[in-house]
Amino acid sequence: MSDAFWIREAAGDAIPLLLDSPHSGDVPAPFVRPVAPANVLRTTHDAFVDELYASAPRHGATLIAATFPRWMIDANRGRDDIDLDLIEGAWPHPVNPTAKTRSGMGLLRRLALPGVPMYARRFTIPEVETLLRDYYDPYHAAVRAALDRLHTRFGAVWHIDCHSMRSRGNAMNDDDGKERPDFVVSDRDGTTAGGGFTEHVASVLREQGYSVGINDPYKGAELVRAYGRPAERRHSIQIEINRRLYMDEDEVIRHDGFASLEHDLDRLLGDVVAFIQPQIA
Ligand SMILES: [Zn+2]
Repeated sequence: MSDAFWIREAAGDAIPLLLDSPHSGDVPAPFVRPVAPANVLRTTHDAFVDELYASAPRHGATLIAATFPRWMIDANRGRDDIDLDLIEGAWPHPVNPTAKTRSGMGLLRRLALPGVPMYARRFTIPEVETLLRDYYDPYHAAVRAALDRLHTRFGAVWHIDCHSMRSRGNAMNDDDGKERPDFVVSDRDGTTAGGGFTEHVASVLREQGYSVGINDPYKGAELVRAYGRPAERRHSIQIEINRRLYMDEDEVIRHDGFASLEHDLDRLLGDVVAFIQPQIA
């Protein structure tokens, strides 16, 4: 099995619910040597998100997390959302750079933070091909296989793509300088999930006392786009947790809020299971 991810299966009775955390890893390939300072690189990843949802298998859900850093290759971007300025020579594969690449955080990252370059040299073509083959592709294959397996068994599947966000946007984001809500739940404007899944999750979080945005300032990215097909009863949402709820954002260390947030997410998962159960009976 690839070491680009780990997977924890349901403990006990399985439910067709998959959680994936594509940005909580931090072990780069040996040939990738950024020049951005280590303390800046640390702030680009969704620290502790895999731990916040660690109870998922006890609810019957499957949990997958990437082990590689998103600053090296970002599993939540299109495979072709690529910045040609980062590659030496003529890239022989499809290219479709989006606004994410233009802001410096596409599939390959150009800027660690606004004004802070990631690298002092370009990647070679074989290096980028290695990143796709050994990291990006195995991660997507694992998510796809788990979703397909659950969908085959239950006739429907629910997917939560798990992230964390800075408490304020910066110049690389669409909401530069703005204070963010506690959570953002996204389904690409209703196209990747249906049946009230998005609204259910948002309302459970609001009942817990959190402020919740829906599709604003995040609409959801590649992992929900690639796998959410509500017409086939495949429902994918993205959840962004505000980092101020559980960690010191600059130091990237947990603070006292971690335990209560972990507890609330555990209750959220219980509610999601109760939402799913009657639909698969
Ligand atoms: Zn993320």
